[in-house]
Amino acid sequence: MSTLPDPALGAAVKAADRAHVFHSWSAQGLIDPLAVAGAEGSYFWDFDGNRYLDFSSQLVNTNIGHQHPAVVAAIQEQAGRLCTFAPGFAVEARSEAARLIAGRTPGDLDKVFFTNGGAEAVENAVRMARLHTGRPKVLSAYRSYHGATAAAIHLTGDPRRWPSDSGAAGVVHFWAPFLYRSPFHAETEEQECERALRHLEDTVVFEGPATVAAIILETVPGTAGIMVPPPGYLAGVREICDRYGIVFVLDEVMAGFGRTGRWFAADHWDVVPDLMTFAKGVNSGYVPLGGVAISAEIAATFEKRPYPGGLTYSGHPLACASAVATINAMADEGIVENAARIGEEVLGPGLRELADRHPSIGEVRGTGVFWALELVRDRGTREPLVPYNATGEDNAPMAAFAAACRASGLWPFVNMNRIHVVPPCTIDDSEAKDGLALLDEALTVADAHT
Ligand code: PMP
Repeated sequence: MSTLPDPALGAAVKAADRAHVFHSWSAQGLIDPLAVAGAEGSYFWDFDGNRYLDFSSQLVNTNIGHQHPAVVAAIQEQAGRLCTFAPGFAVEARSEAARLIAGRTPGDLDKVFFTNGGAEAVENAVRMARLHTGRPKVLSAYRSYHGATAAAIHLTGDPRRWPSDSGAAGVVHFWAPFLYRSPFHAETEEQECERALRHLEDTVVFEGPATVAAIILETVPGTAGIMVPPPGYLAGVREICDRYGIVFVLDEVMAGFGRTGRWFAADHWDVVPDLMTFAKGVNSGYVPLGGVAISAEIAATFEKRPYPGGLTYSGHPLACASAVATINAMADEGIVENAARIGEEVLGPGLRELADRHPSIGEVRGTGVFWALELVRDRGTREPLVPYNATGEDNAPMAAFAAACRASGLWPFVNMNRIHVVPPCTIDDSEAKDGLALLDEALTVADAHT
């Protein structure tokens, strides 16, 4: 721990926060944010000296862990050379980041448009698809999250869309595969895959293929519950897109850059989209950065015709320098391989073992350092531990479970009736095992509601 406890400073930080910071997704008067004093690796700590094992990676973001020294040094070094420069110039950190990203993304996704985060990446992917095809509509999955800006929130399938949905954004939602709560009443993965593909193709046909610009999917839907798609599904979506001249967009904002145990989740199935959005893990969010990786065919659309979109901070030098350092450190230190191994050897087996002992665990699913426990009242009926989109008293069982995790020193990512087990890709065996042991204790709180 590099900072000594300082409760008075913590209280002052908290007081200023409560007076002046307007928080995301929150009823401002009902929140009680923790004042954070520092972080390193898989841990962070508060001003009272409490240390937390970060099983959330701060919104599934810090794939490389907190305060990686090479990334911190790269930001400092770049700050000394050139802090900011407009996107119209060729800047070393920017071109090197683009080169490294293009070298890792699948297929011919060789050009990179930089944004400040995931939602802007989605906005621009949609704009590119519409301009490339000359078509208006975009299809996205109900169980999805694509960001909170205008097009991105309309594409988002989860209930965070509802208050902002004007219903007029040219978005059509469909059901993607999720066998545990199958929208198709399927009993096997094969059935789920086949029916999901038929449903998607029917949706395209009934919407009118000549009106559909893009199908966007999270390769492994994250916020909506970490649903690893059945074998054949993404290849099938690729075929549907090819059959009808539709742009295939994979959103790898959460699943990309090592999270699933591969550089990109698409690598698990050798699928190549036309556009791929990324953010978070590209530089673990040390400086805001996202982007769109673009296929040769779509890039060609804008060779002679200007691309009508841009951002003052596109390809920001500090962000790009931190991406270069992050990608190099991930490669040099085998961090993606570590995420795969921890998933296979520690988290996967450990979580399944917890499921043997805790009746509140309905399903364990995931890969790499990207896992979800779906908590239920009854394994037979699969009734969720709390109702869909529960708030207040209805959400009390999950709130109590999350509080029990935090009280024991484990910082969880809890969403609806699920805990997402999403530590940094750098987590080691003993930290992962410690986290599983803390989870084991906290799950007794959830079990009391079964
Ligand atoms: N797409 C996906 C798959 C995401 O998980 C997120 C953020 N959780 C976004 C887009 C939006 O990213 P941002 O919050 O950086 O705008």
